[in-house]
Amino acid sequence: METRVHHRTCPFCEATCGLEVTTRGDEVVSIRGDDEDVLSHGFICPKAYGLKQLHEDPDRLTTPLVRRDGELVEASWDEAFEEIDRRLSPLLVEHGRNAVAVYLGNPNAHNLSAMVYLPALLRALGSQNLYSAATVDQMPKQVSAGLMFGAMLSVPVPDVDRTDHLLILGANPLVSNGSLLTAPDMRGRLRSIRERGGKVVVVDPRRTRTADEADEHQFIRPGADALLLAALACTLVEEDLVDPGRLVEHVNGLDDVVALVRGFRPERVASACGIEAEEIRRMARELAAAPRAAVYARIGTCTQEFGTLASWLVDVLNVLTGNLDREGGAMFTLAAAGQRNASGARGTGKGVRFDRWRSRVRGLPEVYGELPVACLAEEMDTPGEGQVRALVTIAGNPVVSTPNAGRLERAIEGLDFVLAIDIYVNETTRHADVILPAPEPLQKSHYDLALYQLAVHDVANYSPAVFERSGPAEWELFLRLAGVVSGQGPDADIEAIDALVISTLVQREVGNPASPVAGRDPAELIAALEPRRGPERALDFMLRVGPYGDAFDGAAREGSPALTLDRLEGSPHGIDLGPHRPRVPEVLRTPSGKIELAPEPIVADVERLRAALERDRNGGMVLIGRRQLRSNNSWMHNLPALVKGKDRCTLHVHPGDAERLELEDGGQALISSASGAIEVPVEVTDAIMPGVVSIPHGWGHDAPGVRMSVASDHAGVNSNVLADETQVDPLSGNAVLNGIPVEIAPVPAREPVAAG
Ligand code: SF4
Repeated sequence: METRVHHRTCPFCEATCGLEVTTRGDEVVSIRGDDEDVLSHGFICPKAYGLKQLHEDPDRLTTPLVRRDGELVEASWDEAFEEIDRRLSPLLVEHGRNAVAVYLGNPNAHNLSAMVYLPALLRALGSQNLYSAATVDQMPKQVSAGLMFGAMLSVPVPDVDRTDHLLILGANPLVSNGSLLTAPDMRGRLRSIRERGGKVVVVDPRRTRTADEADEHQFIRPGADALLLAALACTLVEEDLVDPGRLVEHVNGLDDVVALVRGFRPERVASACGIEAEEIRRMARELAAAPRAAVYARIGTCTQEFGTLASWLVDVLNVLTGNLDREGGAMFTLAAAGQRNASGARGTGKGVRFDRWRSRVRGLPEVYGELPVACLAEEMDTPGEGQVRALVTIAGNPVVSTPNAGRLERAIEGLDFVLAIDIYVNETTRHADVILPAPEPLQKSHYDLALYQLAVHDVANYSPAVFERSGPAEWELFLRLAGVVSGQGPDADIEAIDALVISTLVQREVGNPASPVAGRDPAELIAALEPRRGPERALDFMLRVGPYGDAFDGAAREGSPALTLDRLEGSPHGIDLGPHRPRVPEVLRTPSGKIELAPEPIVADVERLRAALERDRNGGMVLIGRRQLRSNNSWMHNLPALVKGKDRCTLHVHPGDAERLELEDGGQALISSASGAIEVPVEVTDAIMPGVVSIPHGWGHDAPGVRMSVASDHAGVNSNVLADETQVDPLSGNAVLNGIPVEIAPVPAREPVAAG
């Protein structure tokens, strides 16, 4: 049998590493890093090998499952869609569009078909009950970016490869390989900063692997990042170190910010942060003195009660020090396709709009078209007009990934219908009435529409599918489902819906005066995309009208590499589009055309932060999460290579706390919160600060009905049982998953049960 070598992008995390996958027939022979990949240059992490095991995984679904007499049994594709139509359509007719909720999991962000076709499916469904992993992750960043820069993905990216000083808060990029920062081999990149004489500072309640690589690590009390960031800004103001440089003429609200941060003197916030005031002042001085510096903060600063304020203050600091939009600072990408901040004329934006509707029960505002997943359970289990009666999950496992998992699971059990598109029967999909198996990554093409908008260096890389799949392509599933929810029945004309999708995309572009194809004939442009169909047709279009595209005239615009999908297909290691270049003011999409340094909703929320300073700190223990190199949220624990070795789902506790609480290394602890209680093995370590404990999320695979045999053997516990769904960051609706107050007690060793 012929051996073939394929070059493709790893779909598992945001780093988008290039892989060299060798196959023989239907077998994956080997996986290694692609030395010629334009972004990763051969780097990979252990998760990449999981691709082979995922391909071979006997638990991975390949046939639709339909619940019959209480059991999920195999069915044909037609039977599955008929069942969906039979169960879902009457609910929509009787109870309205909002009766069906949708939850989108994190893998959709890595999925070309999902990025292109889910908007069409969601439009066809028309439900306001849209939820996603964004509100247990990065929504504060997107809210802050939208209010400050005018677009939700205009999140400045630290220019890691050219900076002299990197201040990292609540992120562990050595393990995550970057988050809202596509940057493979962060260890190498951080070492380079130090080798060129720069400095890396990590602020985190844990001494993470990233902290071990840094010049300096500061422990901080969970939830206090916004206070620290405000105190750093205050120091800049008080010590006359504010110097926005050329940004001054592009910024609104500088004086307002200067006034706001004055209330957060280091001496005032030190005890809340757990960092000495003089240390805070020194950190601010060093940040200001560095020739090129960037502040970067991620999940630990987002999944907390001041998530949006912390995200905003990160970029306030980058502006105040003159490091926003300058080489070696925090910069805006210019992605080849799908970049929302690359189209439209500056200063004509309407600005981002939130709160167009509210959740029925708690009245939480909509953000970028979705509601906080922290209120999903109550929308299901609270009776009344508008109650959610059905759930569609797409590559998601909210029972494990979202707060108060116990309540959510009970609420899902009470629904009239549950549909999942997934590769496993997991803790959530075990409750489904129909499961449509998604293709595995090697069975689909790949282009990172979302992640290249957050990359440390602009690149474009397209991977065709390695293996064919016997069932329908994923985009066809989405469109067939769109047919059902739009009343066309289970056998809708997918070609016709796809034609509508591409037509909508093209029409929007030709109607945009700033587009290179403004005013062109849509039919002529669509014809030029022949014979492509599906996501490839949409991608080709987006590339061609993008900032590096050929804009359909066959000739490069000046300085443009004339990108087309043809061209990418002929470049299996990707195309290097260069380091970031300054983009202010062209990148800005705020109504004013300026950086809004003091957006009104954020300014209004500062009072809440000030009030937090007055809080009585009772000295109780608080829980945080932790990222692990061989985990990716909840879904990779069925791959033997990624779960082997000692138990990773453990409670990290400081030796002093362990002694006081009578916890033993290797023993069991009972952790309880306002929402629930779990038992977890104890790991005593001084890598966590006193008063704080940590459990990784994404575990807890021993529920009955779960069909993930490897994961069930390494079950761990679901830490989200402890998260309180009533606690959210009010501006973004992001759940508070860090800093959860907990009680901890040792669990006595159980007596072995006598045989017989
Ligand atoms: S770092 Fe991420 S993209 Fe790179 S090999 Fe690992 S999982 Fe894949």
